[in-house]
Amino acid sequence: MSSITNHLPTAELQALDAAHHMHPFTTNNELAAKGARIITRAKGIYLTDSDGNEILDAMAGLWCVNLGYGRPEMGKVAARQMDELPFYNTFFMTSHVPAIALAAKLAELAPGDLNHVFFAGSGSEANDTNLRMVRTYWAQKGQPEKSHFISRNNAYHGSTVGAGSLGGMTYMHEQGGLPIPGIHHINQPDWWSEGAESNDRDFGLARAKELEAKILELGADKVAAFIAEPVQGAGGVVVPPATYWPEIQRICKKHDVLLIADEVICGFGRTGNWFGSQTMGITPDIMTIAKGLSSGYAPIGGSIVSDKIAEVINACEFNHGYTYSGHPVCAAVALENLRIMEEESIVEHVRDVAAPALADELTMLNEHPLVGGVNVSGLMASLPLTPHKESRARFAGNKGDVGFICRENCFANNLIMRHVGDRMIISPPLVITPEELKEFGKRAKKALDATYATLKEKDMLKAEA
Ligand SMILES: *Cc1c(COP(=O)(O)O)cnc(C)c1O
Repeated sequence: MSSITNHLPTAELQALDAAHHMHPFTTNNELAAKGARIITRAKGIYLTDSDGNEILDAMAGLWCVNLGYGRPEMGKVAARQMDELPFYNTFFMTSHVPAIALAAKLAELAPGDLNHVFFAGSGSEANDTNLRMVRTYWAQKGQPEKSHFISRNNAYHGSTVGAGSLGGMTYMHEQGGLPIPGIHHINQPDWWSEGAESNDRDFGLARAKELEAKILELGADKVAAFIAEPVQGAGGVVVPPATYWPEIQRICKKHDVLLIADEVICGFGRTGNWFGSQTMGITPDIMTIAKGLSSGYAPIGGSIVSDKIAEVINACEFNHGYTYSGHPVCAAVALENLRIMEEESIVEHVRDVAAPALADELTMLNEHPLVGGVNVSGLMASLPLTPHKESRARFAGNKGDVGFICRENCFANNLIMRHVGDRMIISPPLVITPEELKEFGKRAKKALDATYATLKEKDMLKAEA
């Protein structure tokens, strides 16, 4: 197989990128001054950049390349589908084979009575669907005032107006007039950062009870749904205390508030089960899916909804949808991804092999003086950095400066770990082997050592006063 290696020199690519390409979540002028790192190809868990460096991708692209890079079956299926039927819509009393087969497969994989799928092109779009579908559900049931959503600070649900409003990122709300009305945020169950002196069980329960307080404040007859990631991803891989989710489920049931589990990261094996809801022991009314659904090989997302909701929505015309809802090529690629996951027992591999091997590496890294602890569920993890482990202190200076230095040191050691504030984030392809995880641990240790040296040199090893 030939690959495209005959490209412009890196500096020229960087100049064109800076001149014409606006990057998401980026200060483009800063990037232009520095030059983007240009990735040209990838295989397994390794990326290759335009200078020929091989980089271990411990982020699976953006939490999505669960199967790893370069699976030829995926390209073959896409090519075959493009030949057979590259596009047709699903709006006007029509359907096609890939959308039908994928919806049926998802109904089979999803727990409980989550048997119906509304397709979207991304996780953001799927959460916009949820917003409108849930409000329509209550309106159809004669309760149009039951329209408010409760979410959490620091949640990530996407970047469209609806999804960005559902999310709890203040730096996103500050731009473009978010959040839209009718969306409320409670505190996240982040014991490491916000738990202070309390034990994690009490803290988890207290944070769950904030949901009940908010429902009572707004009136249960006004609250449509609570949305949350089973394990917060972009917020810093926040694994909630064990007491949290059972209490949330109880509160939702008691007040007849729908529970939406945003499974965009947790879904499709990341936490060692098919869905994070199973790992957390919850039964949501809706699951948002994207990312791992196609292992990132094609853009596709969706909402998997319960019999109860589908019964109501299917009885009316729901005036919502995307040109690319259930796009045949993306649906075919997603089906192939799920087929490979089952054939190669990838969920079992995560649970029985890779997650325990990652846990070993994290235990080793936790001995590093900069690492304040370990948050982990399956193959998603974070290492909060701290100048003082015992008190879980924050660094003096700007939040995120230390995380950024560490990320740059990872890059320098051909490792991709992302930082969220001063937490280092790990979310490798699910196919990663124990040997590859050892290599990850080695590179991460080197990056942490280099970061420690830099902080010492710059006198940055100080705790916030
Ligand atoms: C990435 C993400 C989204 C948004 O998905 P896009 O495909 O980027 O629109 C939504 N929810 C969660 C939990 C995510 O991680």
